[in-house]
Amino acid sequence: MLIKGGTFGPVATNTYVVADERGGSALIIDPAAGSEPWVRETLARLEVTAIAVWDTHGHWDHVVENHVWASDGLPIWSGQGDEDWIRAPAPFNPALFGNPPPTPGTEPARILTEDDALECGSLSFRLLHTPGHSPGCWVAYCEAEGEAIVGDLVFAQGVGRTDFPGSDPAAMVQSLTRTFAELPGETLIYPGHGPWGVSLAEAERFARMFM
Ligand SMILES: [Zn+2]
Repeated sequence: MLIKGGTFGPVATNTYVVADERGGSALIIDPAAGSEPWVRETLARLEVTAIAVWDTHGHWDHVVENHVWASDGLPIWSGQGDEDWIRAPAPFNPALFGNPPPTPGTEPARILTEDDALECGSLSFRLLHTPGHSPGCWVAYCEAEGEAIVGDLVFAQGVGRTDFPGSDPAAMVQSLTRTFAELPGETLIYPGHGPWGVSLAEAERFARMFM
């Protein structure tokens, strides 16, 4: 698996390009504000073809450039729970985002559940529904590669905020507990903010301070 990351926009959101191999198929994960040129350059450099956008959850900073890729003809995929924010992206926190012009919404082509796998070329990710930060937060875990796209569930040194509209602190603790129980500690994580490529076990040591 090839994973390339970049950090963009007003709250330093991570966008990833994930591909099965050079010349293969790719997913664009969480297209943040201003990420488009980097995504295009990365796809070209890896000689890969994007097949879809995967939104880890529906918060504005993670979905704001969905419409760019939708207008290129790419389908938008997400897990169940935050569909309304994908259809109508809402920068609901002016303290974080200011008052940007309205973001065009996109209709998700697929809304996945835990019965589905997220697939890209030869890669297959198991999906874990991990609500708390938002109702529709999802972890995509590739067991064969030992890597997981974790969105804003857990960071290298912290966890996602639970003071937003639709957040649920109790659900967050359950989601974290479940993720630490079900995924191996050596799994490398790719969060929505901050450093990536650290082990889940290392992140768990910090996350426990918030649980
Ligand atoms: Zn978020």
